[in-house]
Amino acid sequence: MDYLPIFIQIKNRPCLVVGGGSIAARKVALLRKAQGDVTVVAPQLCDELEKLKNDGLIRHQAREFEEADLAECVLVIAATNQRAVNEQVSELAHAQRLPVNVVDNPDLCSFIMPSIIDRSPVVIAVSTGGSSPVLARLIRTRLEGSIPAAYGRLAKLVEGFRDRVKAAFPDVEARRGFWEKILEGPVAERVFSGHEDEAEKLLGKAIDEQSANPEMPGEVYLVGAGPGDPDLLTFRALRLMQQADVVVYDRLVSPAIMELVRRDAEIVYVGKERDKHTMQQENINQLLVRLAKEGKRVLRLKGGDPFIFGRGGEEIEELAAEGIAFQVVPGITAANGCSAYAGIPLTHRDYAQSCVFVTGHLKDGSVDLNWKALAHPNQTVVFYMGLHGAPTLCKEMIAHGLPASTPVALVEQGTTPQQRVYTATLDTLLDVIASKDIKPPTLIIVGEVVNLHKKLAWLEEKDSAEKEGVFAYRNS
Ligand code: SAH
Repeated sequence: MDYLPIFIQIKNRPCLVVGGGSIAARKVALLRKAQGDVTVVAPQLCDELEKLKNDGLIRHQAREFEEADLAECVLVIAATNQRAVNEQVSELAHAQRLPVNVVDNPDLCSFIMPSIIDRSPVVIAVSTGGSSPVLARLIRTRLEGSIPAAYGRLAKLVEGFRDRVKAAFPDVEARRGFWEKILEGPVAERVFSGHEDEAEKLLGKAIDEQSANPEMPGEVYLVGAGPGDPDLLTFRALRLMQQADVVVYDRLVSPAIMELVRRDAEIVYVGKERDKHTMQQENINQLLVRLAKEGKRVLRLKGGDPFIFGRGGEEIEELAAEGIAFQVVPGITAANGCSAYAGIPLTHRDYAQSCVFVTGHLKDGSVDLNWKALAHPNQTVVFYMGLHGAPTLCKEMIAHGLPASTPVALVEQGTTPQQRVYTATLDTLLDVIASKDIKPPTLIIVGEVVNLHKKLAWLEEKDSAEKEGVFAYRNS
């Protein structure tokens, strides 16, 4: 290591920044975050610093730097665009053994500033020793994604319990084991989903009961997996996928996404394919309840968004009735994913001022919709589960006033490498469907916006010869 990583306490202590431009302003912001008492020496200030000065949040010496400015301060940052001034600050500070940083000039620094991920009081610092600040920022971005924004709140919560835990678990190993369970289990999840009070109660209870009863209550994460491309998962979805004990998933969750689930998690496939429900909805609801009651962290993973044609509501109703903790994580719904990847904006100032998502498949297999409301000019209609109802939907949309020439797109296996987009009109869609070997899932988009596909399609589609079903994973 070329540098020793340390965190310096500067709260209410005098810090000096030489320079009044935007780079200096960034450093001032950091020092202020750590509650330093900041003085800026610079003939002029940029707007941002001027505002801080006017608000009484920093001191300002409106002149060139002088040696006397270094007196008293605990650290100094030089951020001017004049090399000679930066060198002078560095030299004088070194002579006084005062920690000094010169922006973008590691040779003149006695300390360098890392890229940080701030989840105060948790702070992660990343440094490449000055060799590539851009690389440090890239690493930081990756970490930002995998560390929940609420980690700070979690740290604050557990801080208040340290003494109690110490007393309850005098043995270091036992104590560490306890904290590991807490920081990865329901207490942490309660904090992340904004239920600090419950988390606190749960932690208190865990401390009281832990030695007698090491079981923690289970919980269910109802998570939207998006339409297929794993890149479209949310950070939260990914994190929960990697900590669940059991994963209950259905057909619309793509194999590429299942690859990201924790390796040693138990996997349960519950269907459902058209006309052959692998597991009845009732049984799925009960399965979730049973698994959670066994103390497991259960991930209920669903394609798209769990609250859009996903029956997610029914599943959590049962959990709520049983008093089981759960949280819901939204996913990108098929309409959003498919339209984006097909280059078909769902709304457009010239063609569509509203957009409706409907299901083309009712419980009894029929299609019975309010066609009058759907067959509207300047409106995009997205049909989920519409392939089998396509004959009805084309007929009814025309019968209720849409021109037969209204453009239609059928998106097959949207957002996956197997995505294909077929365009047609209301009166030619059935011919297109008949002439192609179409694999589920498919989404049908009706409306003038479909014409934009020719211009805006950006995803390269595979040769149809290479095309195959991808929504089939393990035992499905
Ligand atoms: N909750 C899901 C929808 C479940 S209903 C969501 O929010 O997306 C299942 C229907 O969604 C399928 O019949 C199909 O119409 C549509 N669908 C889901 N994923 C799709 C995909 N990758 N490509 C095309 N359609 C998809």
